[in-house]
Amino acid sequence: MIKHLFFNALLALLPFIGFSQTFGIVIHGGAGNGISPEYLSEERSKAYESALDRAIRFGYSLLEDGMDAVSVVEAVIVELENNSLFNAGFGAVANANNEVFHDASIMRGSDLNAGAVANVFGPKNPIRAALAVMDQSKHVMLTDRGAEVFAASQNLIMLTEADKETYIQAAPKPKLSKKGTVGCVVLDMYGNLAAGTSTGGTSKKLPGRVGDSPIIGAGTWADNRSCAVSATGDGEYFIRSGAAQYVGSSMRMLSLDIQTSLESSIAEVAELGGEGGLIGIDKDGNIGWDFNTKGMFRAAHASYMSKPIVEMYGK
Ligand code: ASP
Repeated sequence: MIKHLFFNALLALLPFIGFSQTFGIVIHGGAGNGISPEYLSEERSKAYESALDRAIRFGYSLLEDGMDAVSVVEAVIVELENNSLFNAGFGAVANANNEVFHDASIMRGSDLNAGAVANVFGPKNPIRAALAVMDQSKHVMLTDRGAEVFAASQNLIMLTEADKETYIQAAPKPKLSKKGTVGCVVLDMYGNLAAGTSTGGTSKKLPGRVGDSPIIGAGTWADNRSCAVSATGDGEYFIRSGAAQYVGSSMRMLSLDIQTSLESSIAEVAELGGEGGLIGIDKDGNIGWDFNTKGMFRAAHASYMSKPIVEMYGK
């Protein structure tokens, strides 16, 4: 116990004594064939670019200040959930009944603990509900009403019935939808990895449908021994191939690098007929992404880079 306290105190001191292990962050705001200049107006693409740029700089500044990986993932995803440009939180798309339900998950690489909520409407920021499940319950996933009751018990900001209407108004008509799920993967300066993903799911989904985003191993994965990964795309295929965990396993068992592992996982998804993308960061701070759609909203920054990368189209 004393050894543990001493170790934690030492970790807390690291940023103040100029300790600078490599750290970094990668985010995505969804992948799809609608993310291409033929579908996105210049104005809308600028809006995405600046939202991604803001979020990546925000996350990076928290890392520079010494914040831990899980807290950075939470803070960045909250920022993206509050932006109606993305299909998560406030901007979540509606299901076939014109209702909005969220899926979210978060995972900590140091102990492989994780939390998730699926098919919930209530917590203003679903990623916070997922974090509460990880930190304040002995479970990994809560769904539907049970998740809502639990979130309310954790003093999270809850939406009211009246808010539902506002959410439906904010939800785009499917044909015009160029929005995407949001995800964030982080390596902090203490060598800890974390990953999180949040979404409204696929538009016009059947009521009760749960995608890959809240499923640990499919949409989200973090393991300090390998990497942190977040997925976006046709969730059913990412579930069937175990896409996020596949990347970690490729690194650990086959000694593949992060980029090759991400590409190999996307190839599996594609082989099944699915489309989408993955972002990742490994335990040494190497970053990567891959997708088999026309575009993916994405950004990255790391302590060895002079400025963030923000990209949307092509590879
Ligand atoms: N993967 C999400 C889902 O299937 C959707 C997306 O990423 O766009 O729910």
